[in-house]
Amino acid sequence: MNSKPFTILPLKTSLLANLATLGYHQMTTIQEKSLPHVLKGRDLIAQAKTGSGKTAAFGLGILSKLDPASFAIQGLVLCPTRELADQVAGELRRLARAEGNIKVLALTGGTPLRPQVASLEHGAHIVVGTPGRLRDHLGRGTIDLAHVHTLVLDEADRMTDMGFYDEIAGIVRACPRQRQTLLFSATYPDDIRQATRSFLNNPAEVIVEAQH
Ligand code: ADP
Ligand code: MG
Repeated sequence: MNSKPFTILPLKTSLLANLATLGYHQMTTIQEKSLPHVLKGRDLIAQAKTGSGKTAAFGLGILSKLDPASFAIQGLVLCPTRELADQVAGELRRLARAEGNIKVLALTGGTPLRPQVASLEHGAHIVVGTPGRLRDHLGRGTIDLAHVHTLVLDEADRMTDMGFYDEIAGIVRACPRQRQTLLFSATYPDDIRQATRSFLNNPAEVIVEAQH
């Protein structure tokens, strides 16, 4: 209807061309409301229901700032479950296809640590992981988050419901103070608002109410 095309955004030509290849022409509502803030580097709290296209809303932000030549973790996405982390990693790989050799690594529990450590030693640009497994890697000194420029808390309401607050706080502390933090959630109740306030710096807030 009156949705806007991605081409109005200040995105690299390669990202725009790849979006067209993926068949993404018009932005979804949450993308249209959040991407202008994301691309300006502002912290953001974005609330919209499942299936509304939140992954590209933060994925394009990470990819816009990414330096493919630097094999340091520059984008870190926290997800509540292994399935969601794998989904997000897959979507980020599709979005990154035209950006050269971007390594997106999923680090979740329920799989052995050693292969993950080997992958980390080879280097990754973006890590998508569950809080428990990321805490394990931090505790063992097998992950370095000192170069993270974009931290995403995806499905923040579910992560908090699952009792991951302490793990998340520890991971946030291991990231640079100077970073962009993006929080995506289907709901944003007061208790999560209080708990996550310290992770964000003067965030913009966008909400897409469920239609019908
Ligand atoms: P959410 O995280 O909000 O649940 P996702 O990021 O998983 O949603 O996206 C849901 C689906 O919509 C995915 O299959 C994705 O490929 C697709 N999608 C996202 N943005 C667009 C777009 N602008 N145009 C077409 N399809 C899109
Ligand atoms: Mg999602």
